[in-house]
Amino acid sequence: MSQTPAAGRAEYPDPDTEPGEPAEPVPLVLPPSDRTRVRRLPKRGRYDRETIDAILDAAIVGHVAWVQDGQPYATPTAVWRQGDRLYWHGSSASRMLRSTDGVPVCVTVTLLDGLVLARSGFNHSVNFRSVMALGTAHLVTDPAEAERALEAFVEHLYPGRWPELRPMSPKERKATSVLWMDLTEASAKVRADINHDDDDEAWPAWGGVIPVRMVQDAPQPDTFVAAGTKAPEARLPG
Ligand SMILES: Cc1cc2nc3c(=O)[nH]c(=O)nc-3n(C[C@H](O)[C@H](O)[C@H](O)COP(=O)(O)OP(=O)(O)OC[C@H]3O[C@@H](n4cnc5c(N)ncnc54)[C@H](O)[C@@H]3O)c2cc1C
Repeated sequence: MSQTPAAGRAEYPDPDTEPGEPAEPVPLVLPPSDRTRVRRLPKRGRYDRETIDAILDAAIVGHVAWVQDGQPYATPTAVWRQGDRLYWHGSSASRMLRSTDGVPVCVTVTLLDGLVLARSGFNHSVNFRSVMALGTAHLVTDPAEAERALEAFVEHLYPGRWPELRPMSPKERKATSVLWMDLTEASAKVRADINHDDDDEAWPAWGGVIPVRMVQDAPQPDTFVAAGTKAPEARLPG
């Protein structure tokens, strides 16, 4: 089964917001900063939270870029959004997670939507939706907040799954670090063009887009699944 990329908006609670307490408003359209303004082909830049959130919510994987001793690293990792924050997690022993608390990061998320086959090699390209978020990473130190974030991670991967799981043990909790950044300085870029041929349209090669999407195949049960247990349906985030 498969699912076309969709503009979904997960309704995860903001961990900082108690019921009844007004949330710190992050603008619905982020004013582009000098750092986030898309300069080349600016028409592809988007700064509205609806677009940014929809891309983040449809993604499973992002890249956390950080610098250590002058060396940039871009670590692929699972990311998810909760309200106005972007989260990621991993082993407490992970160098990336140990090194980035309080450190500037750039997190990117990319959804590949198509192969753009033009009539010249120069104009070959890809259609995509991407987000680049700049900010400071913070370690979640409150155990209850960390557990809520880990629940949100599982629910982002597969909604409705958390309540049926074995509860997390203190050892597992200790072995897991959760980090977050605010979504206050971010941009999206969307390329959704079908033709990129300039003056080559008469050239006798096929031109256009081959759409690409994420697909989930049939679930593969492990050997411990009891006979008759219903398999989860394919469900992509977003
Ligand atoms: C799957 C994929 C493939 C791509 N392939 C190419 C390629 O082959 N060649 C190429 O030149 N470009 C490619 N791009 C676009 C690339 O990500 C940059 O947008 C592009 O290189 C423009 O760089 P720049 O120096 O003009 O932007 P910069 O001046 O570096 O960007 C200024 C600001 O614009 C915003 N911004 C820039 N790019 C993005 C983005 N992709 N998503 C969200 N915000 C962004 C950021 O906030 C950034 O700080 C690709 C993008 C994706 C997602």
